[in-house]
Amino acid sequence: MSSFDFDACVVGAGAVGLACGYALARRGRSVVVLESERAIGQGVSSRNSEVAHGGLYYPTGSWKARLCVAGRRALYPFLDAHQIAYRKCGKLVVATSAAELPKLEAVAAQARENDVEGIAELTGAEAMALEPGLACIAAIISPESGVFDSHGYMLALQGEIEARGGAVALGAPFEGAAPIAEGGFTLRAGGEVPTTVTAGALVTAPGLSAQAVAARVEGFPAGKIPARHLGKGVYFRLAGRAPFERLIYPPPIPGALGTHYRKDLGGQAVFGPDLAYVETLDYAVDPGRAAGFYSYVRRFWPGLPDGALSPDYAGIRPKLHGPGEPQPDFRIDGPEAHGLASLVALFGIESPGLTASLAIGEEVAQRLA
Ligand SMILES: Cc1cc2nc3c(=O)[nH]c(=O)nc-3n(C[C@H](O)[C@H](O)[C@H](O)COP(=O)(O)OP(=O)(O)OC[C@H]3O[C@@H](n4cnc5c(N)ncnc54)[C@H](O)[C@@H]3O)c2cc1C
Repeated sequence: MSSFDFDACVVGAGAVGLACGYALARRGRSVVVLESERAIGQGVSSRNSEVAHGGLYYPTGSWKARLCVAGRRALYPFLDAHQIAYRKCGKLVVATSAAELPKLEAVAAQARENDVEGIAELTGAEAMALEPGLACIAAIISPESGVFDSHGYMLALQGEIEARGGAVALGAPFEGAAPIAEGGFTLRAGGEVPTTVTAGALVTAPGLSAQAVAARVEGFPAGKIPARHLGKGVYFRLAGRAPFERLIYPPPIPGALGTHYRKDLGGQAVFGPDLAYVETLDYAVDPGRAAGFYSYVRRFWPGLPDGALSPDYAGIRPKLHGPGEPQPDFRIDGPEAHGLASLVALFGIESPGLTASLAIGEEVAQRLA
């Protein structure tokens, strides 16, 4: 019998925090997930593309490569088991000019390095036969990529935690933690009923607040908290029939996968996200960005009618790199990084964090075993 109120506390009930809670609860640990909002999944996890990524792009051996592939392999069976909607529609990465061919070849080579299933190179004619209306000179197909109901997924994770006796405390912002000399942490949560609890282990998965939360853990060295950069991406929705079944992506751009096309689970076509560095958490979509979307999208879909796009929503990536800097890996920081026992602090969980979430949870739970 543990002398703590909980074996583990997770800060943040987004996809990643809930997946960490699930992985810990599955191992028989008593878990509390603290969430500042009044509902789960109100952060980055509800402002994304809902794409289950194949895992094509990420550098060999990186967390992003390993956890995206492992997370996606675990995700589809989880969605099946919980009857959560998804469409494994597959994805085409397309080159629309000769200048993009080397980038496409690099993506195909990296995808094979990353052990992504079913990758095949297509001629432009082969790709256009699959998706009439598409314009490209070559493509890669990734049959394992898809779209899924991310909110249903998070609800299922919450259900799994609660079914194992764990708790997801809503309206309970984490306010601070202090290490206990014999091990574990004393934690303070605010909200209508401020509470102090003890936990044997602490996982911080608060998305865009990762740096602020780490700074509230006593003894966390300030020099080990990475700088936060905000990478905003906006989406535009198409009026009219969705033109393609598969996800359509251009080759990646520095810092992001590039503005892409998806047919969402409701059957509507959505384009985005672009990338702009911002200073504040402002989710407004500037209609003025439409001009850039028309010219970009028409490279692979020349049939996009004038006036068919309307502003939809925006998301903000919790980035660890500024403009022009190389894109770093996820940070899954244990004691070797910050010196505090029984603490795993997550930083920079941008894309493909949703796809990777089950595997991130497994990694975190193994570290705390
Ligand atoms: C535009 C965009 C598109 C993306 N597209 C994809 C995609 O298609 N596929 C994919 O795999 N990934 C995608 N991603 C990445 C993915 O959305 C994220 O990696 C993932 O959702 C991160 O989940 P999280 O749980 O770490 O963060 P969040 O979902 O932000 O959860 C963190 C939670 O912590 C809570 N919190 C914060 N501070 C506190 C506190 N002090 N106390 C308690 N709770 C707190 C927040 O309220 C929030 O609920 C995209 C991201 C963006 C921005």
